Amino acid sequence: MQKALVAEGQRLPTATPWAWGDVEGHGAGVGEVQSGWVLIWTTPLPALHFRAVAMDFSEFDAVLLDLDGTIYHEENALVGAAELVRRLQREGRRFACLSNSTNSPGQISGRLKRMGMQVEAEHIYPATEAAATYVVEKYGRPRVFNLATTGMQELLEGRVEWVENEGQKCDAVIVGCPSNVYATEERQRAALVLLREGAELVGICADRVFPSPRGLEFGCGAFCELLGYSANVEPVFCGKPEEKFFLELCRKLGVAPGRCVLIGDNLESDVAGGKRVGMKTVLTLTGVARREDLEGLAEGKRPDGVVGDLREL
Ligand SMILES: [Mg+2]
Repeated sequence: MQKALVAEGQRLPTATPWAWGDVEGHGAGVGEVQSGWVLIWTTPLPALHFRAVAMDFSEFDAVLLDLDGTIYHEENALVGAAELVRRLQREGRRFACLSNSTNSPGQISGRLKRMGMQVEAEHIYPATEAAATYVVEKYGRPRVFNLATTGMQELLEGRVEWVENEGQKCDAVIVGCPSNVYATEERQRAALVLLREGAELVGICADRVFPSPRGLEFGCGAFCELLGYSANVEPVFCGKPEEKFFLELCRKLGVAPGRCVLIGDNLESDVAGGKRVGMKTVLTLTGVARREDLEGLAEGKRPDGVVGDLREL
């Protein structure tokens, strides 16, 4: 393949083969531009000294940014994240931040502000909101038992009838992680009775574990399995990589999934999930996925682009 030397910021004409390197000048792959979309192979090229060309987002109707491992890690913004958010805002792009977080959009907006990123709650779509939408659309004004978070309580306040003990009628038990404040041992026992009497088991997301400053924590998916097994019911999950998560987000944004690019750090929940509904995907190597995880991946699970971090976009 012919290699094209490109200066930083230079736009390439359509269908031009090109070589790509990170900002330190290490070679990372070759690709070609087709209709403005950059396809990046991951074959290592040892001695390239090119800089990445800024990705042109005008090809897309919306840019979707995963949060944990992509925009931030714990309470710190990842390299290039604040610049990317500011760029999307400056260019007037439609964008959304998505997450399997069990917090509310308002809580996440506050967290981003503490890291220097001004992102309003309307641009944030966590799995809690997907779960809230699911139960309200399915039941109208559902009777809900909260086995999750204050964020869930905030999102559903005024839209549901809260169930507080096992003696009440209940449509849905919403489940977060076992470490969440509403998941006390007493409430777990009440939830089990409600589920055995027919309430739907709604998991905010299916994550097995999640990282915290203490190490690995039991995830929402693990807690749902415990409850579902005990009550002999199947959980319904609402977060990534569920199709309904991505489709509902696109409906809210008023865009077609095929017109979105999703940038995330997780090959399963971001890349495979986004690709299943027709999105373009870019993997950033600042979170859970490593470059060697790409080897031997089936086409349907392979990201359309790979970057070492967000400065390369
Ligand atoms: Mg992530």
